[in-house]
Amino acid sequence: MPESHDYRMLIAGELVRDGAMLDVINPATARPFAQAPRANAALLDRAVDAACDAFPAWAGQSWAARAAMLSTLADRIEGRSYDLSRLLTLEQGKPLGQAQYEVAQTIGIFRFYAAMTPREQVYRETDAAFIAQDRGPLGVVAAITPWNFPLALLAVKLAPALLVGNCVIAKPAPTTPLTTLLVGELCADIFPAGVIATLVDANDLGDRLTGHPRIAKVAFTGSTATGRRVMAHAAITLKRLTLELGGNDPAIVLDDAPVAATAAQIYSAAMVNSGQVCMAIKRVYVPDALYDEMCDGLAALARAAIVGDGLAADTQLGPLQNEDQFARAKAFLDNGARDGTVIAGGTALPGPGYFIAPTIIRDIDPDARLVHEEQFAPILPVLRYANLDAAIAAANDSEFGLGASVWGADIERATAVARRVAAGTVWVNTHLALDPEVPYRGSKQSGFGAEFGREGLEEFTQARIINVQRTIAA
Ligand code: ADP
Repeated sequence: MPESHDYRMLIAGELVRDGAMLDVINPATARPFAQAPRANAALLDRAVDAACDAFPAWAGQSWAARAAMLSTLADRIEGRSYDLSRLLTLEQGKPLGQAQYEVAQTIGIFRFYAAMTPREQVYRETDAAFIAQDRGPLGVVAAITPWNFPLALLAVKLAPALLVGNCVIAKPAPTTPLTTLLVGELCADIFPAGVIATLVDANDLGDRLTGHPRIAKVAFTGSTATGRRVMAHAAITLKRLTLELGGNDPAIVLDDAPVAATAAQIYSAAMVNSGQVCMAIKRVYVPDALYDEMCDGLAALARAAIVGDGLAADTQLGPLQNEDQFARAKAFLDNGARDGTVIAGGTALPGPGYFIAPTIIRDIDPDARLVHEEQFAPILPVLRYANLDAAIAAANDSEFGLGASVWGADIERATAVARRVAAGTVWVNTHLALDPEVPYRGSKQSGFGAEFGREGLEEFTQARIINVQRTIAA
């Protein structure tokens, strides 16, 4: 049972706790349901030193040997799927079906990278010379993950980083540490000591980790504000960085989009995980001709949603993950009610958990906070447009540029519009469709560096040119 399990961190190959503990709160009840051990600076340094010690031998193992260990980890996670899914719902809040999906995705990511083979790029191969580029590991990597997808966002860092021969210090968010600790336990008897560490903090060790002189790279997913701080600390030793930060993804509906189907797709890409997704749809632009029908369609879906404890069989939307996020969401509700017309939801639900009714807001002031800032909550503003060029300009008028989508029946026209949108990923007639083979990345202040795909693997490597002249010039 997750409630009574003795959670431990994996440090220097040992499962440890040294006294300090953190309560882990179930957001559906707002009550602690388990405890996690908490690290301090000395434990962090021990984990990093052990990783540095383990690095040469780990980097020296064959690619195939490391890939086999990733496959074994995937099998072990699969064997514990039910426990991990249930634990994910308990600590994160998402409905059990979505937790099961995340666990399946996590397994899929480990298997995808386990099947990848190394590639050398040859630039010249002649009688006189051989010039190629190979890639090696960077060293010790800090993998810092947020509380919305604690397992999948760990997997996209852990799998490629380990495959190419890095050691990894994994630090989950303090409100969702348990699934990461359980993965650490599964790793303990697969990987050599020191290759992987799991470290829980109370949001107090991030600066030490990201500024640590013995860490070569930081792979971070989280808010743009914390991402800026990570970048500043990483600058001290010029660490490599992958930053997957906030988003304010626009959906642009074109005037030939089928309204009912489009509304259903947009609704689910805005509300999945209660809107706590970097790449969720966070604002919708709809042409005059379709505006009322689209607003009514979205509102009907929101009113019909079943909100509740993620462990209950019929729940479609769980709570917000933590109290701070709940407070931020309620402030957005207040602003939204002032700046627009609430046509579904609009309130927090009676507690004790952190529940918000899925909310649709129409006729919103284009300058509203809800339009320009990231709500990270099940609250969707719908904006009306008369002129497509102006709608594209409004969609692009953002400090963020993570994802975006364009919806319409004429695919050529929709694709042409998609090519005018500034974002790392622009979907046409879908949103949030992620695939381990296809890299995603942010533009502007949504971050940089790819995850997924071969590009996501190369982020954890140092490229090296080998330039061979077959004879020494006389
Ligand atoms: P939120 O503000 O919603 O808590 P964050 O972006 O701060 O989101 O959290 C994402 C991850 O970043 C978490 O693992 C968190 O513990 C971690 N974190 C928080 N502060 C720092 C920091 N100064 N340096 C590095 N990581 C940090």
